[in-house]
Amino acid sequence: MTDGARAATTPGRTSREAATHCPYCALQCGMLLRERDGQVEVLPRDFPTNRGGLCQKGWTAAELLDHPERLTTPLLRGPDGRLAPATWAEAYARIVAGIRDTQAAHGPDAVAVFGGGGLTNEKAYALGRFARVALRTRMIDYNGRFCMSSAAAAGMRAFGIDRGLPFPLADLGHADTLLLVGANPAETMPPLARYLTELRERGGQLIVVDPRATATARLADLHLQPLPGTDLAVANALLHIALTEGWVDREYVAARTEGFDAVRRIAAGWWPARAERLSGVPVADLEATARALATARNAVILTARGAEQHAKGVDTVTAFVNLALALGLPGRPGSGYGCLTGQGNGQGGREHGQKADQLPGYRRIDDPAARAHVAAIWGVHPDELPGPGVSAYELLDALGTPTGPRTLLVFGSNPVVSAPRAARIERRLRDLDLLVVTDFLLSETAAIADVVLPTAQWAEEDGTMTNLEGRVLRRRALREPPPDVRTDLRVLADLTAAVDAGAPSYRFLSSKGPLHPPSAAADGAQPPGAAADGAQPPDAAADGTEHGGARQDGADARVVFAELRRASAGGPADYAGVTWERIDAADGVFWPCPDEDGPDTPRLFTERFATPTGRARFHPVEHRPAAEEVCAEYPLYLTTGRVLAQYQSGTQTRRVGALRRAAPEPFVELHPDLAARLGVGDGEELRVTSRRGELRAPARITATIRPDTLFAPFHWGGTGRVNSVTNDALDPVSRMPEFKVCAVRVERVTP
Ligand code: SF4
Repeated sequence: MTDGARAATTPGRTSREAATHCPYCALQCGMLLRERDGQVEVLPRDFPTNRGGLCQKGWTAAELLDHPERLTTPLLRGPDGRLAPATWAEAYARIVAGIRDTQAAHGPDAVAVFGGGGLTNEKAYALGRFARVALRTRMIDYNGRFCMSSAAAAGMRAFGIDRGLPFPLADLGHADTLLLVGANPAETMPPLARYLTELRERGGQLIVVDPRATATARLADLHLQPLPGTDLAVANALLHIALTEGWVDREYVAARTEGFDAVRRIAAGWWPARAERLSGVPVADLEATARALATARNAVILTARGAEQHAKGVDTVTAFVNLALALGLPGRPGSGYGCLTGQGNGQGGREHGQKADQLPGYRRIDDPAARAHVAAIWGVHPDELPGPGVSAYELLDALGTPTGPRTLLVFGSNPVVSAPRAARIERRLRDLDLLVVTDFLLSETAAIADVVLPTAQWAEEDGTMTNLEGRVLRRRALREPPPDVRTDLRVLADLTAAVDAGAPSYRFLSSKGPLHPPSAAADGAQPPGAAADGAQPPDAAADGTEHGGARQDGADARVVFAELRRASAGGPADYAGVTWERIDAADGVFWPCPDEDGPDTPRLFTERFATPTGRARFHPVEHRPAAEEVCAEYPLYLTTGRVLAQYQSGTQTRRVGALRRAAPEPFVELHPDLAARLGVGDGEELRVTSRRGELRAPARITATIRPDTLFAPFHWGGTGRVNSVTNDALDPVSRMPEFKVCAVRVERVTP
């Protein structure tokens, strides 16, 4: 029996249940899994966010547990170029030899690690620790860089902290006006759409900003349909209107913020007619939006990938944060600004150290105090910790090059489909000396790997996830993985032992001992037992005695979480007071939660912001064109996104029967006027070409898209891979690629 499962005794039947959460998106809907005579079914479970609801993906999630294509043994690429079954010992031997050979020839940074926003907190933590301590490489990043990093950076610079929603989702129930920017929850998070319909039934106003008339936009009272890449101008124009109409909350701005004057000067130049000329959004709609936000008793602004995935994504999100601050929304009960996180553990995944510039607890890896604190827990000297690495795309784009990594280990990601300019990234991956992928299905990236390790699925492992509200949740195992399948934590523990067995970092600190060593203080104080230069006495570090705990096997998620709590203690994302028992007792725990006996924090910013002055920071931002604008050769914009029945790169959802039937193939959406001009009929195959590559998929003709813009979903590989076309231009701050806009041409593929 696993940690989370509960046996149910029915005469003549074997049955057990686990109250857990969906494996897919950041809403992390509560669900009950029940196994009877080997069959697993998904049942509704009342949880504060989804209130018993699930989308089609959640209902069908268990279908993959016994899927015929499931990987059940390691695979090694043989001399004939084919992947063939192997033992774990053979697979590990190949990996360890590859790591050693690569590092001996090219140095520690020649081995890289690539993680994912779907990994549990424990895995994200263990992965960062494995990279920094066992491999001693600075080359680690993760696919969350592609999803949430722009809102994270904007939140950090405005509020001093990055938690997607700084309030519980249920607070939307008090909003009278909700502005959704580049978010389509009706398709991406259907149970959340209930909050939108309830808002409208209460007489509230829903306003959606999106270049497409999505399912969410169709629910709205007002839909602003800007040209892709012009959201920032829309936000500045809304602030301009608020200024000229006297709607700025001057008392709030004076008492709780700083830096407004510079923002006011920029907004003054964004008169609505100018924004209309650029974005196509009518002045009347801009005015109605500003009025609805400013005159509502409670108003909320939420942004998502549509605002973020641009080479100016941080500035675009910042522009909406500026608007929210000017209207006095953040920290006011029932109002606020938030980001809708996408991936299942997009929030926790960016807090605990799999990001290139970060240590656990959302600490910066270039902060000496943070390095000393974490190094003491890991049992190494702070100087031994590598410095910041490079962002996900930059890491992938360096693979196999003379100065880049030559060995890569991928956990929970499929960059062959999900990276921008994907054909180039696929070539880079093929150029590696060794590519290792852990997954439970043969993703497109696993299919080109040298070693594939079969790992457990969500219903076979314990751990924690942190949802879009910053609520830490329990993932509870229903059953054990198949016999020759291992958890990611087991794999990391095994590989750590193999490459770093003699080092103290091999094992994790137990939960005994003080969680808050003095080093946790932001003043840079040294941990107890550390020398003046931060060095740890090797013996003390080896057994963890300076923390009063013994070291244990890192394959146990409870053990890893116990160490994660210590490592995060005193950091911005402080989990020190979060225990699994507390999560079980209270439908989750909101971070920061520094003390086991103290409160958690469902609502941030009610008294102060997490900046040194306690005030939120305005930041002046100006519109700038997309990295690639249309021209005679590439006269149309392409934007990308998701569909209801698929998730991320589709490795999982494309293999679920009901989801495959609902969304069987890629497509290209185009407006009827454009279709008529091209002489294209519905369903005819199109070729969409950019400067980077081409995509082929059937036409889907719809008036819900602008005539100057195409849309294609990103869930498919092969010839239907939209990321063959997308732009790898990066935001200068977040390093997020510009998935949401590039210049293309389209033509019918003649048979
Ligand atoms: S995919 Fe998201 S919205 Fe759908 S059931 Fe899972 S967590 Fe809920």
